[in-house]
Amino acid sequence: MLCPSCGNLLQKISVTTNQGGRFDVDHCGYCGGTWFDPYEINRIPFHEVVTLANITVQTYKKYPKLKVHLCPNDHLPLEPFKGDAVPSGVRLLWCKKCLGIWATQKDLWEFKKHQEDSLSAYDIGTKFFPKLSVIFIPALTFLFLLASTFTTIFTLQQEKEARIFAESRISNLVTAIIKPDTVTISFTTSIPLISSISYGKSSLEIQEIMVSSSPSQSHNVIISSLKPDTDYIFRLNLTDTTGKTSSSDLKIFSTR
Ligand SMILES: [Zn+2]
Ligand SMILES: [Zn+2]
Repeated sequence: MLCPSCGNLLQKISVTTNQGGRFDVDHCGYCGGTWFDPYEINRIPFHEVVTLANITVQTYKKYPKLKVHLCPNDHLPLEPFKGDAVPSGVRLLWCKKCLGIWATQKDLWEFKKHQEDSLSAYDIGTKFFPKLSVIFIPALTFLFLLASTFTTIFTLQQEKEARIFAESRISNLVTAIIKPDTVTISFTTSIPLISSISYGKSSLEIQEIMVSSSPSQSHNVIISSLKPDTDYIFRLNLTDTTGKTSSSDLKIFSTR
């Protein structure tokens, strides 16, 4: 393969991407230009551009320029590459047949510097990375979902432990209907605890009533204004003297 700029032989140089992948570029050690197969110019990191510049014999100004730049693959004339990603003042050439891109050392340097600055600005909304944002946004969403799933599992685990703790403290639970719209609930706890009851016809309409507002082992409450002939769900909530709260398993009382 011959250099489109100066006609010297291109050398294969292996470069490493930021993700650790490797690929070969065809580099002219004389004029410093580099030939990229499709998409490779987007993958080469800036520090590898610096490495390529360091192994170039001549600076870009001193080589005898060819009048017509030909594709090193299929010898068709290269044409200026136009795209939003190319900043003004940077000239990249491409072959419309094989879609390879030719960049002189100076243009490659400025193109990749511009690309790197845009990346570090991390502006997803810029014209520069419409394709990248397609990858980034689902990745961030996935990480967020992963984090919230862990949080949920952790919370559920904590609640489960609190329930086991509460259940181990409660005994002698009795519910009794004293009127069609009124029940009494009584229970004892193995140590003095503050208690309340959360109850409702479904988990969507829960209300809470205080049972023992100071630490006690014996707990009694009357719940009135209930709907007759109805099942209610409820939990016993216990708070110890340090303020630590735990709730029992879901239970049922009925006004029928
Ligand atoms: Zn060259
Ligand atoms: Zn070509």
